[in-house]
Amino acid sequence: MTAATAELIRKDYRLTPAQVPPTVVEDLDAAEKAALVAHIKRLLVEQDATLVAHYYTAAELQELAEATGGYVSDSLDMARFGTECTSSTLVVAGVRFMGETAKILNPEKRVLMPDLQADCSLDLGCPVDEFTAFCDQHPERSVVVYANTSAAVKARADWVATSGIALELVRHLAAQGEKLIWAPDRHLGAYVQRETGADMLLWNGACVVHEAFKADGLEKLRAAHPEAMVLVHPESPLDVIAQADLVGSTTALVKAVRELPATTFIVATDNGLFHKMQQLAPDKILLEAPIAGKGATCVSCAHCPWMAMNGLRNLAQVLESGANEIMIDEAVRERAVRPIRRLLDFARQRQQVVLGNNDA
Ligand code: SF4
Repeated sequence: MTAATAELIRKDYRLTPAQVPPTVVEDLDAAEKAALVAHIKRLLVEQDATLVAHYYTAAELQELAEATGGYVSDSLDMARFGTECTSSTLVVAGVRFMGETAKILNPEKRVLMPDLQADCSLDLGCPVDEFTAFCDQHPERSVVVYANTSAAVKARADWVATSGIALELVRHLAAQGEKLIWAPDRHLGAYVQRETGADMLLWNGACVVHEAFKADGLEKLRAAHPEAMVLVHPESPLDVIAQADLVGSTTALVKAVRELPATTFIVATDNGLFHKMQQLAPDKILLEAPIAGKGATCVSCAHCPWMAMNGLRNLAQVLESGANEIMIDEAVRERAVRPIRRLLDFARQRQQVVLGNNDA
């Protein structure tokens, strides 16, 4: 078999450090926190609202979601939960594309977000006009976009993928002889191409958090902790991925910490995930994989600046005021829902196969 190649487009769509906001974590004393939590619990009931939070958001938000019948997970699972939830309002604590995905799948629901400025470097690095023009130059290729994109970019795609299902999906498409455009994450795209051998043209964007993990620092940390297992999210550079004992989505990394026999893990992903890992496996030791620079010199310091924009204060404010509602043009929504539904159907079918095998 001839190995196909991944070709990275020349123009660089990664953000410069100056384009990345500082990571500012909400600072509340215990009394203020308790008062806000009680207030938000009342508002969620009054507003018939359910809180859905991403693993990278603050521990208080995750705990509040779980205590009030909401949900904490990765982006694919958040989208799935949103379609099954019966509340008339979804409050999405995460980044903007997650709120948009919830609205695309649930147009009849009101979708609110604590902060509409909570974006993502991958989404920001994939402007729809340039992306559309690029796709139009390659009509022979199917367009696969990562979930971390705007509704308008999804509307131009044939498929949406998440890190949890990217390998399976691309393998499936490659087996049918399809050539692909992959956007926007160059690192995840390079990893998927290496694993599947698919013919892929890669958009040149990156996640500011995962791109900052450094292979040389990781080598030193591994040498100091030879007993540790290394867990890496595939948005990280290939030389970091090369040192991993396990490469996987946020959900896969959480599962690994809980289920693998090792007691120490070096983890290369947003450190917001450590809350869920520690909650499920309190006896395990978690070490942060090294990043470029420390303190004032790191860009994101291993915590997404946009995820950190979600807090208890702005969550209470949007529930009180109804502000920050996600609105999507209906024509865009109708086009964007197709590749997302294809993803959810694909995920469901694969899950059925897995369950079928287990049952047999
Ligand atoms: S962690 Fe990276 S991929 Fe996730 S929202 Fe932040 S910038 Fe985007």
